[in-house]
Amino acid sequence: MEKEVFDNLDIKPEDFRKLGYRVIDMITEYYASIQEVPVYPAATSSEVEQIFKEDFPVKGQDPFDIVDEWKSKILPYATHLGSPRYFGFVNGSGTMIGTLAEALAAAVNMNPGGWKPAPSATEVERRTIAWMAEMVGYPGDCGGLFTTGGTMANFTAIETALRNIAPYDITAKGLQDKQMPGRFKVYMSDHEGHISIIRVVDLLNLGRESIHLVKSREDFSMDTNDLGRCIDEDITNGDFPLCVVAQVGSINVGVIDPLEEIAAICKKRNIWFHADGACGAVGTLLPEKRDQYKGLELADSITLDPHKWLYIPYDCGCVLIRDAEKMRRAFSIQAPYLRGTLPTEYTGLYYLDYGPEMSRGFRALKVWMSIKQFGAEGYRKLLSQNVKCVEYLDSLVRKDKDFEALHKPNLFIYCMRYAPQKIKDKYEQDSIELNKYLDELNQKIADEIQLSGTAFIMTSKVRGKTVIRLSVCSHRTTKEDIEIVFLKLKEIGESLTDRSEN
Ligand SMILES: *Cc1c(COP(=O)(O)O)cnc(C)c1O
Repeated sequence: MEKEVFDNLDIKPEDFRKLGYRVIDMITEYYASIQEVPVYPAATSSEVEQIFKEDFPVKGQDPFDIVDEWKSKILPYATHLGSPRYFGFVNGSGTMIGTLAEALAAAVNMNPGGWKPAPSATEVERRTIAWMAEMVGYPGDCGGLFTTGGTMANFTAIETALRNIAPYDITAKGLQDKQMPGRFKVYMSDHEGHISIIRVVDLLNLGRESIHLVKSREDFSMDTNDLGRCIDEDITNGDFPLCVVAQVGSINVGVIDPLEEIAAICKKRNIWFHADGACGAVGTLLPEKRDQYKGLELADSITLDPHKWLYIPYDCGCVLIRDAEKMRRAFSIQAPYLRGTLPTEYTGLYYLDYGPEMSRGFRALKVWMSIKQFGAEGYRKLLSQNVKCVEYLDSLVRKDKDFEALHKPNLFIYCMRYAPQKIKDKYEQDSIELNKYLDELNQKIADEIQLSGTAFIMTSKVRGKTVIRLSVCSHRTTKEDIEIVFLKLKEIGESLTDRSEN
């Protein structure tokens, strides 16, 4: 049989080097421009869709041309999460060494679902997970792995809870056993509980009615008296309290639930204690904040999100389970083709036994390299810089009569409201109309600052009010950026108010 000729499958070394240098030059130029680049392209979705309208290529194309399309098509329509003035969602900025780690990991292409296809990658992950554990005060031999994000981390934790504390063999029987007349219940706080927990109960098919919202206190943290009441009520109704989800750095105001109290309640009632620290768990590195984290180490499981406050490039979440054996019990599966049938000493940890995924990327590398580059000291400085930016913003807001502060700043997330005095005076008699006006005004301010390219800022709701929300989760943001953005928000707010008043 004639051998098929297909000589462009791999790129020749001399061409690959040229191509690689071109890419690294593009990345280097990009990083050099990141302070000034308009944060958001302000193009419509159909405009961007048009750019990529192209038939499935029949003939292969020149790799140099393909790479150049990065500059002509992709970058011009990118949102720059690495900009110091990107404050959307809870999105991290991306470490530079993490960028290189992604290329290296892709080059060797290990698959740390199993040990055999990924010996060094597995051990890098095991070590990095131990570092994550050390950060939050967990034992180094705890279970844990890197996931796509916080949602999958929360899923892995609550699935582990279910498999370990259901009152019957749920692995065999699922949710449909006759021994299970009531519902499994999951508790989180009514204001700051995170939407990803809804996604988790959806995935687990627990039903959205399984979520029991617990009242929050004045400072937005979970009211543990009400938690006790909710649990009692469910037990009386024949339901099964499964898991309490505590927020460790909440999505709107960065509050931390009372972890020690929640731990005590869970212990007494044999309920799984999960700490959702996707936003804020790593804040435990900061000595001035450490008190708030007391009890985190008592959680049965913890979610962290390195692509948020450790600034790791997407994607990278992390789950830790205090007792690794519980994780294995939840996820272990066996097949002869996964491991071969005869035991040998040349094998090790199979992450596919400890989480929902089988094939997985070498996510740990970018975390491992970033932690080594910054160290605990470096990270402490970066986190503290974010906290200081938010405190500074809060001070600007409190000094300005046209802005309204809504909560005490805590970590790196801050909500406030533009509420100009003259509008408050105008609607003095009618608080409903005033709120409606301010809701719309604050939304317009956020829309306008996005379109201006100066900063990317979104709105959220705090106790029913539409508010301007900033997540300061970039290692590049400084006080100057905060000042620029505050002045811009004020300027937009004033001009919108003038326009609507004239
Ligand atoms: C972001 C976030 C999540 C979800 O994490 P993803 O990485 O977006 O999947 C869960 N909980 C909290 C508190 C979060 O901030």
